[in-house]
Amino acid sequence: MSVRVRFAPSPTGSMHIGNVRTAIYNYLFAKAQGGEFIVRIEDTDLVRSGQEFEQNLLLDLKWLGLEIDEGPETPGEYGPYRQSERGDFYSKYAQQLLDHRQAFYCFCSEEEIAQRREERREKGESLHYDGRCRHLSDDEVKRRRDGGEGAVVRFLAPQKDFHLKDVVRGDVAFPDGMIGDFVIMRESGMPVYNFCCVIDDWKMKITHVIRGEDHLPNTVRQLMIYQALEVTPPIFAHASLLVGEDRQKLSKRHGVTSLAAFRDLSFLPQTMINYLVLLGWSHPDERVIMSKDELETIFTLERMHKAPALFDLAKMRWMNGQQLKLLSPEEQLKVVTGWIKADHQFHQEKHQWQMSFLSLFLDKIEMEDDLTDHLDLIFATAPVASSEEQPELEELNALESTGQMRSYLAAELSRLKQQGSEFVPVEAFSGWTSYFKQELKIKGKPLFKGMRLILTGRISGGDLSALVPITPIDVLLARVS
Ligand code: GLU
Repeated sequence: MSVRVRFAPSPTGSMHIGNVRTAIYNYLFAKAQGGEFIVRIEDTDLVRSGQEFEQNLLLDLKWLGLEIDEGPETPGEYGPYRQSERGDFYSKYAQQLLDHRQAFYCFCSEEEIAQRREERREKGESLHYDGRCRHLSDDEVKRRRDGGEGAVVRFLAPQKDFHLKDVVRGDVAFPDGMIGDFVIMRESGMPVYNFCCVIDDWKMKITHVIRGEDHLPNTVRQLMIYQALEVTPPIFAHASLLVGEDRQKLSKRHGVTSLAAFRDLSFLPQTMINYLVLLGWSHPDERVIMSKDELETIFTLERMHKAPALFDLAKMRWMNGQQLKLLSPEEQLKVVTGWIKADHQFHQEKHQWQMSFLSLFLDKIEMEDDLTDHLDLIFATAPVASSEEQPELEELNALESTGQMRSYLAAELSRLKQQGSEFVPVEAFSGWTSYFKQELKIKGKPLFKGMRLILTGRISGGDLSALVPITPIDVLLARVS
């Protein structure tokens, strides 16, 4: 049977990276197996669900490059793909469970249940639903419902041990007594997640359910429903928990957690995929930098691990730089250009100049915020040196040789400008160095650091002979004067 997996987000907000990882795992598994990647919108919570959230979710998946085989916008033969449109399925199977006495109408109000639970707590008894409506006669149920009394449909939870054979976690035991009778249809007629999930996974012919381990308590309820319907459950793979530095479940408290926020910080889709896949899965040869194409061929559920995965922003940042380097030069330029404000001088420069800028700084660029410093080095007329550089900078400035070089360079730059040059020719730069060495007898630190100080305002940085030819002469003139 061909593999069919689904990503089943609830459209209640911006996509959390835990969910992004789930989507990635499902997608990669489908690709690696030649199967189908299905998106099902779990929007039965009408209050919290929103059309704009669904739209954003679909756009997020598109941005990541996770192509959807079947979903709300590309329906296949197992639709509809929004739970809010699948009500007939849920009613039909809720009725079947009621008919088979595997579910029952329950008229207890939430207040009554809470009060009785309190009494049971005091007596040290089980806190599950106490079964009051479990054995009401059909006549009584009919009479009360006809009389307009509201009722939920409660699933009659079998009192026995359940076992899950999870691909990631091995045998998971759910001992008898863990779960009481639970609601599958609300009084409003709206179904509850655990019930819809089973009906949909079954009806959509889902073969594997890959999701976070926080769903394990749901899984036992779902296994119960599968058993009641006499349906073989899909294969389950529960991915490890994502944790922050404090080893607690990753949440807003740890900082940025939504895909949109990571995108705004300039993380590339390739980085999101590469980084998140490694939080809970590893390459057979422990490789770290991988493209989406590669992952689509090598991803296996067997290499998912159950140990909690530590989310490390610094590592993700490093990986962004690595992923940037995997792109072609033109793609790199497109990405980097997109990171620079629209009104920046950078955009006025020629393509060739932009490529030179990129090749000079590429090794030092991981994220958008790295660029400011490099751009300043080229465009700021009065670059700010760091406070650590200050003492050495003053010492160099006081040297006679620095003064000599400054006057010479000011004259040279004015001459070049008068000739109509916008940039310093590469030969001119090497000519200056030779002149300072041979004619002025300046060498070593006073020469190299001195020139750097005069031309860039700083005493450290990348290759000066490459930096100067891409710095506008007007900027250099402002610096030397
Ligand atoms: N709607 C559920 C969620 O977003 C889906 C859980 C599942 O994959 O079954 O957590």
